[in-house]
Amino acid sequence: MGAENQGELMRRLGDRLQVAGSATAIYRMDDRTLVWTTSLTISELEPQLAGLRAVMRSPFEVAGRRLGVSLTFGVATADAPGAASSAAHAASLARRAGKPWRLHTDDEGETAAQQFSLLGELDDAVRSGQIKVLYQPKINLATGRIDAAEALVRWQHPVYGMLPPDCFIPLIEDAGRIDGLTLAVLGQAINDARQWLIGGQEIAVAINISAGLLASDSFAARALALIKGAGVPARMLTFEVTESAQFDKADKAIAILESFRAAGVRLSIDDYGTGQSTLNYLKLLPVTELKIDRSFVQHAHIDRGDAMLVRSTVQLAHELGIKVVAEGIEDAACLAFIQGIGCDYGQGYFIGRPLPAGELAALAGQPVALAA
Ligand code: C2E
Ligand code: CA
Ligand code: CA
Repeated sequence: MGAENQGELMRRLGDRLQVAGSATAIYRMDDRTLVWTTSLTISELEPQLAGLRAVMRSPFEVAGRRLGVSLTFGVATADAPGAASSAAHAASLARRAGKPWRLHTDDEGETAAQQFSLLGELDDAVRSGQIKVLYQPKINLATGRIDAAEALVRWQHPVYGMLPPDCFIPLIEDAGRIDGLTLAVLGQAINDARQWLIGGQEIAVAINISAGLLASDSFAARALALIKGAGVPARMLTFEVTESAQFDKADKAIAILESFRAAGVRLSIDDYGTGQSTLNYLKLLPVTELKIDRSFVQHAHIDRGDAMLVRSTVQLAHELGIKVVAEGIEDAACLAFIQGIGCDYGQGYFIGRPLPAGELAALAGQPVALAA
């Protein structure tokens, strides 16, 4: 929409909320979050929130376009410290759970405050190199060599220490700021792949792309520009996309994925088996790889149901000319099973934990003993 139109939409939204919600002042916390106080008690609140959602059903006209808006509410006691960020945190939990609203509870307080300070620190963190990329090895089961890896982001935070992605990715996605972080990870991964090449090793690298980014032309353009100037062949890059309910603007997403594919990037469906319209994606998307979710892989060598699912997925994928990666391999027996059914790649703690770029290259240089 552009920043100007987004500002206009937020103002119009504020107007409607003011009339229907009898708020005296409405403040904008960030791109997608508005906050206000009300004198209603909790029991009076629910009908009010339902009313506000109803008022949003008719679209807004901004710059000649009709825009639908959906609201999710978070509620916190106004006289508590940090009430606004607590309420915003509750709203984001509600949104992720698919609920219309959620009341903030005290034990969420600390997390909320921490998360909001994280968001404010993000730009600085990217600039000052606190965002690190580790690489988890993927073993090529046909050759027994590690010739690929998955880039996994970490935040080396000066106060909280090394933060895993689950602590900050959902938050950054919700704030609509995952594009910058993803480009930083992609840039880093390209640099490391180039270093590996210079050192004489061709190691393919996979980057996680949030489904929401597949609606963004500006992300696609910036990612393609990075790839074109990369100095490594695009076929060494894979984008991993999770099947997800967010994946709703299918036409747009397909067009963007096709532009990546046309540039030579490989496309992988991540967490395969956990999403909804699994088979449909395979038909619609220019997929080169499936990554079977670790919940199916972990016990495939001891659970008949899981074994059947994994085996038939490999067969189906191969018939469609698609490669298969099994993730979450935690022991030798599991690896042997996965290799035995003809999976193309294996990934998991048994093969290797996520490692800094230099250590990954060292590991990839050594032959790995496989059972068969
Ligand atoms: P994912 O894409 O499914 O990544 C695999 C996760 O499983 C990683 O956790 C990895 O460390 C973990 N894992 C690997 N092998 C095993 C195993 O044998 N057993 C078990 N139990 N776990 C294993 P991590 O690094 O914490 O990443 C979590 C999630 O964060 C990723 O899940 C991915 O969805 C997201 N993520 C990571 N980096 C990025 C990024 O740069 N951008 C985006 N958008 N998301 C990212
Ligand atoms: Ca992944
Ligand atoms: Ca996965």
